[in-house]
Amino acid sequence: MRIDIITVLPELLQGPFSASILKRAQDKGLAEVHLHNLRDYSVNKQKSVDDYAYGGGAGMVMCIEPIDNCITSLKAEREYDEVIYMSPDGEQLNQSISNRLSLKKNLILLCGHYKGVDERVRQHLITREISIGDYVLSGGELAAAVVTDSIIRLLPGVLNDETSALTDSFQDNLIAPPVYTRPAAYKDWTVPAILRSGDLKSIEKWRHDESIERTKERRPELHKKYSK
Ligand code: SAH
Repeated sequence: MRIDIITVLPELLQGPFSASILKRAQDKGLAEVHLHNLRDYSVNKQKSVDDYAYGGGAGMVMCIEPIDNCITSLKAEREYDEVIYMSPDGEQLNQSISNRLSLKKNLILLCGHYKGVDERVRQHLITREISIGDYVLSGGELAAAVVTDSIIRLLPGVLNDETSALTDSFQDNLIAPPVYTRPAAYKDWTVPAILRSGDLKSIEKWRHDESIERTKERRPELHKKYSK
């Protein structure tokens, strides 16, 4: 899978993709993440990518032309399944969206800045808008990093234990059961005996019951979906 991220601040994104699971996925050739500096597609000498808003008011708006140039040049090289604009008023990211996106081949993520992008970008150049939550960030880069991480960890072969992503929270509308590691007793806080029993069937049942209890307690709206 290939993800192209269009940004005015590529340096903000270099960190997240150069460590841990995201780096390993790229080293293994399972995912490619390419960063594109929007300024390289600017049409003027100052390399500017934003301008004053029509109608006045505070805040600059990102111009359509550099964005169109960048998307067009990427599309000339390959077909894209989705061109996604990171936007606080987009569809809110959840596990099922990440699962579906992880089956795609080529994605473009467009990061906005300032007041956002000229509305014509949203009307004509993109296929989808994703938000990572009801709060406003100063740019789309951190949101694009969140989306990319949530997708790449699902690709077969990226996580060492292939079943690991399937037992994470939100798969099947349940949240994950509690986990413990050594020591078995710390101060007088002990690990539930069942987990040390070696009885795999009972352990599996215990984990499932805990998942259901936790979901009921912490996320009643998910539990309703699960029990349907
Ligand atoms: N004026 C806009 C906010 C612009 S914030 C509004 O009120 O809706 C600048 C950029 O940050 C946006 O263009 C978007 O790309 C990104 N961004 C901010 N919050 C985000 C969120 N919750 N999810 C995804 N992207 C976000």
